[in-house]
Amino acid sequence: MIHYQIQPIDPNAHLFAVSVSVPQAEAGQRFTLPAWLPGSYMIRDFARHLIGVRAQRPDGEPLALNQLDKQTWQLDHASGAVELHYQVYAWDLSVRGAHLDQTHGFFNGSSTFVAVVGQESEPVKVTLLAPQGPQYQNWRVATAMREAGAERYGFGDYQAENYDELIDHPVEMGEFTLATFEAGGVPHDLVLTGRHLADTDRICADLRKICEYQINLFGGQAPYDRYLFLTQVVGSGFGGLEHRASTALVCGRGDLPSANEPGVSEGYRTFLSLCSHEYFHNWNVKRIKPAQFVPYDLSQESYTRQLWAYEGITSYYDDLLVYRSGCVDKGTYLQMLAEGMTRVTRGVGRFKQSLRDSSFNAWTKFYKQDENAQNAIVSYYTKGALFALTLDLTLRLETRGRRSLDDLMRLLWERHGQTGIGTDEHTHQALMAELLDRDVSDLFAYLDNTDDLPLEDLLAQVGVEMRMRAANGNGDKGGQGKPALKASLGARYRAEAFGVRIEAVAEGGNAHRAGLAAGDRLIAVDNLEVAGNLDTQLERYGEGSELTIHWFRRDELMSGTLELRPAPMDTVVLSTVEGANQALWL
Ligand code: ZN
Repeated sequence: MIHYQIQPIDPNAHLFAVSVSVPQAEAGQRFTLPAWLPGSYMIRDFARHLIGVRAQRPDGEPLALNQLDKQTWQLDHASGAVELHYQVYAWDLSVRGAHLDQTHGFFNGSSTFVAVVGQESEPVKVTLLAPQGPQYQNWRVATAMREAGAERYGFGDYQAENYDELIDHPVEMGEFTLATFEAGGVPHDLVLTGRHLADTDRICADLRKICEYQINLFGGQAPYDRYLFLTQVVGSGFGGLEHRASTALVCGRGDLPSANEPGVSEGYRTFLSLCSHEYFHNWNVKRIKPAQFVPYDLSQESYTRQLWAYEGITSYYDDLLVYRSGCVDKGTYLQMLAEGMTRVTRGVGRFKQSLRDSSFNAWTKFYKQDENAQNAIVSYYTKGALFALTLDLTLRLETRGRRSLDDLMRLLWERHGQTGIGTDEHTHQALMAELLDRDVSDLFAYLDNTDDLPLEDLLAQVGVEMRMRAANGNGDKGGQGKPALKASLGARYRAEAFGVRIEAVAEGGNAHRAGLAAGDRLIAVDNLEVAGNLDTQLERYGEGSELTIHWFRRDELMSGTLELRPAPMDTVVLSTVEGANQALWL
């Protein structure tokens, strides 16, 4: 059996030592490391962190090894029992890579374990070794990988059915907080690494409700026998990546509730939504998959036009199921939805890129966003979620509540999740047509065009009023809020010790017409220093005022005229209509 072994060899240098023993290599055997990992659609070239790759016989006799490309190595002519040895530099504190220091270790197999080409479907054994030294004697292991001799949470031997499974079980090691709860009859572990004051009982109680709800939505049977939330707690951070029986998360310390903290803070509801999102992926993308991912080609970009379905539908359900499972009230849910809608309506990029185009170009556009993103692209997450809402409301309204998007998800689960048959570009449309018993090309045209979705009308029919207002300042995320501004800068910015730094300029806005660009430092408006709150400063002038402004671009002082045209109505507010029937949806 192929045998991988990994050990933190020098935590202070962030180095894992890895060996791969192959009992039966063929002549010209190749080894390769993924260029990307499932769920995160960007070429990351993990092999750039491999150091000192060499091959030998089990008795130590060196073997010639040729590197073929950035991530592939080949043995000359040796066959039979061979070993590969290398180190992995691990200093990426994200959910996508590997990280190691004296406080903990974390890795995705896609960063650490080369595939034995041609033997990817073979079962593998994995030995996890603790770092050496008395300071590490209390380290434990958290992973969904199946034990093969190791005790639960212990170092030792684990196993995976094949390479695909091997790299889908990230591993955390260190002195973490561990709390366990049961959902759907299956044990779930909450693992918190990093300093925190979190009320783990409260988090587990909420996660349990969310997990139970989702398991029941998909028929009541969890598709795994245990599940882990591997959470890295940092000062401030946010991220998550789905796996078949676990998720890797990064969250801010302040997002987790401390003991006796009243209410649901914005940070905590964001954390619960993140957990809900990754958990929903257990069905939608880990088991129901685009045909292009069956199997994954991890050597290069793997294009699909369906990410709107896998990330968009998941994004619709993440907040919705936090509400439906009882963790937040209806008003909070509508606020979350209004903020999501506002993220879409703030960008004119939505008029330039369709959802299918956004999916296809994820590799170079969504994942490589620059300061112009809001003017050039649309997110298959946020607009995809609104498309899912459009489908859900249409199903509920046209069938008078007999059908909903839940039914479509269950059909996907039966026909594609449980069978392993990938979905193609017509699958969702065909299932929708089946549920509504009509042609639905009118609805699915929204995947190819750049029109705004007909949500104002659909929401009105379920008793929710959608209206637009102007933003009330630089930090306004949407929903209910303070009175709107009369005029706005038309740019996102952050305060600096002297002036404000422009981060992004909205196409067609006041900053755009004044000639400001991302990176500029705006220092004076109407010959007065920009200090404190720029929004308040601009509000003193009336609409239509023309103000002299000064800014630095790099080290060059520039000036121009800022004309205060009215702030755009780009912010969504949702509210329930008194007396209206909302039972069809919420
Ligand atoms: Zn996702």
